[in-house]
Amino acid sequence: MQKCDVLVIGGGPAGSTVSSLLAERGWSVTQLEKDAHPKFHIGESLLPMNLPILDKLGVLEQVHEMGILKYGVEFNCTSRDKPTTYYFKNALNKTHHYAYEVQRDKFDKMLFENARKKGVTGLENICVTDVEFQNDESCFVHTRDGQGKIQTWHARYLIDASGRSTVLGNKFKTKQRSKEHSSAAVFGHFSGVERRAGKDEGNISIYWFEHGWFWFIPFKDGSMSVGAVCWPYYLNSRQIEVEQFLLDTIKLCPAAQQRMANAELISPVTATGNFSYKLKHMYGKGYLIVGDAFAFVDPVFSSGVLLAMNAAMRAADVVDGLLENPASANRLLKEYDRAIRYGLKTFSWFIYRITQPAMRNMFMGPRNWFRIEEGALSLLAGDLFTDTKVKFPLFMFKVVYYFAYLTNWRVNRDAYSRRLNSLHKGEPAINEVSSDKTQVSDESEKNITNG
Ligand SMILES: Cc1cc2nc3c(=O)[nH]c(=O)nc-3n(C[C@H](O)[C@H](O)[C@H](O)COP(=O)(O)OP(=O)(O)OC[C@H]3O[C@@H](n4cnc5c(N)ncnc54)[C@H](O)[C@@H]3O)c2cc1C
Repeated sequence: MQKCDVLVIGGGPAGSTVSSLLAERGWSVTQLEKDAHPKFHIGESLLPMNLPILDKLGVLEQVHEMGILKYGVEFNCTSRDKPTTYYFKNALNKTHHYAYEVQRDKFDKMLFENARKKGVTGLENICVTDVEFQNDESCFVHTRDGQGKIQTWHARYLIDASGRSTVLGNKFKTKQRSKEHSSAAVFGHFSGVERRAGKDEGNISIYWFEHGWFWFIPFKDGSMSVGAVCWPYYLNSRQIEVEQFLLDTIKLCPAAQQRMANAELISPVTATGNFSYKLKHMYGKGYLIVGDAFAFVDPVFSSGVLLAMNAAMRAADVVDGLLENPASANRLLKEYDRAIRYGLKTFSWFIYRITQPAMRNMFMGPRNWFRIEEGALSLLAGDLFTDTKVKFPLFMFKVVYYFAYLTNWRVNRDAYSRRLNSLHKGEPAINEVSSDKTQVSDESEKNITNG
């Protein structure tokens, strides 16, 4: 049996961040990843507030090498001729005025290798199959490797960073589907998609359409990630191959289709569904859960990787503190819980309303009354966890939103009803399907309750 201070489940951004930072502080860390890097993962658009975390990990230069600079976010709506672009330089805090778009196979591999360089025992092709907690809060972790070999590890503390597999959420049956939000996505990589000129080349583009919205995320090598996030009932209506379904869906949005006139699909197409969930608990005796392993809401603000890495960075402080001084555990864990829930709650309010006409109009026609535009930009930059005074502008954004809602209440009420209906119409759950003919069993759908 192998022993360590901290065992981290998962070799994604959250797992590699927390592992690196704990190893730097002298703890013996074992990080187990069920697959082998490099591997495809969705979540390719980063936010400016990722940069200080990447800097802390010492990988900024490598991200600069692999990524394309993203200075802003472009919104497109069928009822308007021209897009509206938000530039991060106009946010409340102007310090971090750009981010990056990255291919996750390269990004995740680099972070995993960086953790190894810092002294983490990072092992691939080892899947955690079960965890047994002991009275002294340590645990035995059972694993199976690619050859079927079974092993057991002993750890003083466990961090679950297993993403949507939610290893501990499944074990404790604490995973709950969101009551307020539900969406599904279908996506792939293309070459030959029209790119924006000059400094706008790396910006993410968002296109609203009848069944949801599209993302266009440009990469440094000239290719583009294109995906549609739609109501689950729309994805459930699919009768054709997933690849053709994506191409047909793009045709429903003329502005998006125009950019795709010379596009060629260069990857399998994946469809994935109902990914909004949260666990009941973020921590317990002997464990802490970070990133998607605790919750995921929606990709619209590209907040997933930031929320995962920010949680992981804070988790490193918490675990370092409680291993050093077990009496401080309760206080540290409560503070951690509060900070993570605040971030999720703030993004969620905007995400739940993103398909409302009132919200769309506010994003398409920005006004800086009470600094609400700067506040929205700070949100888009992920600047929720620093000293930036973002609360008042975001509060005023909400006031203006409700005013706009009421002035056109019939249209907004209909959109609201549609959103509520979609929560029920999405059943049955959509399993992950890929056009390379592998039917991927989507673990996020297992043991999930309608919480
Ligand atoms: C359609 C869609 C689009 C998205 N777009 C964006 C975007 O543009 N920008 C953004 O920031 N976010 C985006 N996200 C979210 C983003 O993908 C995640 O929030 C992010 O990857 C979370 O990081 P993580 O480390 O918590 O989990 P993951 O990146 O999922 O890493 C978890 C790791 O754990 C491993 N693992 C799982 N189970 C086990 C086990 N039993 N044993 C060992 N290892 C295990 C997995 O193989 C995986 O490598 C998107 C999500 C979706 C669904």
